[in-house]
Amino acid sequence: MLTRDVVTAWTPILLSRVGEPNSEKIGAYLRTGGYEGLRKALTMTPDEIIAEVKASGLRGRGGAGFPTGTKWGFIPKDAPVKYLAVNTDEGEPGTFKDRLIVERDPHSILEGVIIAAYAIGAHRAFVYIRGEFFLGVKRWIKAISDAYGHGFLGKNILGSGFDLDVSVHRGAGAYICGEETAMIESLEGGRGEPRQKPPYPAQKGLWQQPTLVQNVETLANIPHIIRCGADWYSTIGTPQSKGPKIFCVSGHVNRPGNYELPLGVTLREIIEEHAGGVRMGRKVKAVIPGGASTPILTADQLDVPMAFETLQAAGSALGTGAVIVMDETTDMVEVVRRTAGFFVHESCGGCTPCRIGGKRLLETLNAVADGRGTNKDLLKLEELTAGITGITFCPMGTGMCEPVSSGLARFRSEFEARVA
Ligand code: SF4
Repeated sequence: MLTRDVVTAWTPILLSRVGEPNSEKIGAYLRTGGYEGLRKALTMTPDEIIAEVKASGLRGRGGAGFPTGTKWGFIPKDAPVKYLAVNTDEGEPGTFKDRLIVERDPHSILEGVIIAAYAIGAHRAFVYIRGEFFLGVKRWIKAISDAYGHGFLGKNILGSGFDLDVSVHRGAGAYICGEETAMIESLEGGRGEPRQKPPYPAQKGLWQQPTLVQNVETLANIPHIIRCGADWYSTIGTPQSKGPKIFCVSGHVNRPGNYELPLGVTLREIIEEHAGGVRMGRKVKAVIPGGASTPILTADQLDVPMAFETLQAAGSALGTGAVIVMDETTDMVEVVRRTAGFFVHESCGGCTPCRIGGKRLLETLNAVADGRGTNKDLLKLEELTAGITGITFCPMGTGMCEPVSSGLARFRSEFEARVA
């Protein structure tokens, strides 16, 4: 496990360029080692690249935490057409890390895209970006255009014989389009609704062809892994959570923002040392550690290391690494109502437990929060969350219930006082 000394001495890897002038431009990228990972990758075989990514221990940074190299290995080698889809539809409340990379260092993602496409044998990649990210769209388009101009995209990339075309598709701001199969539906021009899995996108994705869907932050790790090697990368982090992670810290802290630190750093250190502590010297009451769909932690859980395995053991999840801090003045009933309200609004309506159960959940929470509720309503909330969790068509239904279940379990006295 990491010690405090190691974390304090941390030098950013993923965010090393974002504070520099013109960091989004290809000239600045090339002057700071940009596309060296790609040059090296093109001297390797696709199997060697996949083996290196597997050995690095990198797990997806979009929320699910699936091992990246294993995912690449699922793409069938003999399929004549394969696609890569880049998930830039960052919509989880509290999460703003992908946006920063896209706006300030888009070539780091694009280099990861080209290496990933070469490794799986895809010649077409699509960037799916959240519609509200106006600057991000511009930066993606400019980065892609400049990459074509320098021979990093198009035909016969850097004389390797490998071809790749990349284009940008803007979403329309639906949260559910961050779910990989809903994103694929939307990319194909349909309504953004999740698809039945299996088949998984690696088998049948875009236009029923094998498709690798990968998050922005995940891809930004790839050039570093290839350039510096899996041995180096796997020294960062914990046994089951390797590498650096960008934590988006928001809420009642003195310095909200993106902080890149090694996985395994404690929640306490992120809040107290990096984000400047809680505003006005107040105490922490609650923390959502991984975005709004992850269970809420209490103040006595601040020493939990921020890693996939340790957060799971603590009854929550690393999710996207979006840390939302709430101080002692926070009304937890209101937090739960608002969070559930977001998910109910974003439900695609495709399955009954989420569409109808979500509405009943919000109605009941409204009654409790507005002082119209009774003890029976608290029981009803428990029954509803038990009836929705784990049975919906996609994970969003469960995500909708996590803040409600954990809020009820860990801040019960506030709910009881509201109905008393
Ligand atoms: Fe749509 Fe069902 Fe997923 Fe909710 S759980 S977003 S209704 S598919």
